[in-house]
Amino acid sequence: MPNFIKFLGTAGARVATAKQLRASGGIWISLDDTNIYLDPGPGALVNCFKSTPPLDPVILDGILLSHKHLDHSGDINIMIEAMTNATYHKKGIVIAPTEALDYDPVILKYIRSFPEKIENIKPKKKYKIKNLLISSPVPHKHHGMETYGFIIKGKKNSIGYISDTKFFPKIIGAYQNSDILILNVMFSTPRPNIDHLNIDGASEIIAKIKPKTAILTHFGKTMLTANPQKIAKEMTKKLKIKVIAANDGMKFSI
Ligand SMILES: [Zn+2]
Repeated sequence: MPNFIKFLGTAGARVATAKQLRASGGIWISLDDTNIYLDPGPGALVNCFKSTPPLDPVILDGILLSHKHLDHSGDINIMIEAMTNATYHKKGIVIAPTEALDYDPVILKYIRSFPEKIENIKPKKKYKIKNLLISSPVPHKHHGMETYGFIIKGKKNSIGYISDTKFFPKIIGAYQNSDILILNVMFSTPRPNIDHLNIDGASEIIAKIKPKTAILTHFGKTMLTANPQKIAKEMTKKLKIKVIAANDGMKFSI
């Protein structure tokens, strides 16, 4: 299977998700013959089968959950079932924050015996999923609940996924060395007391990390109104780094 990142949804937060201003299914990564799913929000399963060609979650080797907000976790249970061949084959690894498993859990207890393993995220611990090494370099403490991003390391590529957070200085060192950096950018302009990245915060991160490609996704209503494509173009020009705004169904070849 060729290496790619496929966006099964690019909506972020409550309004864009509840109104389905964009799809909200999360991200499929296929790298070094390993298939993993990031943040299966509402519509993940449907959008996998609707994509061209269809992606059957039965070939997934793992599912990563950054935190339990519904726009990230809405389809986590059905995606676990689908990964395990409708529970007929015990397989796959699920990596999730403790809070998603223990307190007001989003992963149902009856589902938990179906995957091969469920791992609680511990910062800096490394998890192996088939040919990939996964880590969560730093807790995103500014998001109102236990939240992490991920670094997905293959033989030649390192993909950083900065899930929901507002900007904090340690994020730069944490995701350094990402060849491809995916950022959840919810807002176009800064807002007080909001625990999400906006364009300025994302620009600062991209400028300092200098990935080969940065991909913006998880757009809230203000970003959609501001036109993510236009913003990505302006960022590319200003930062001299390739910045792409994801679209629903976009396949990025690695
Ligand atoms: Zn969130």
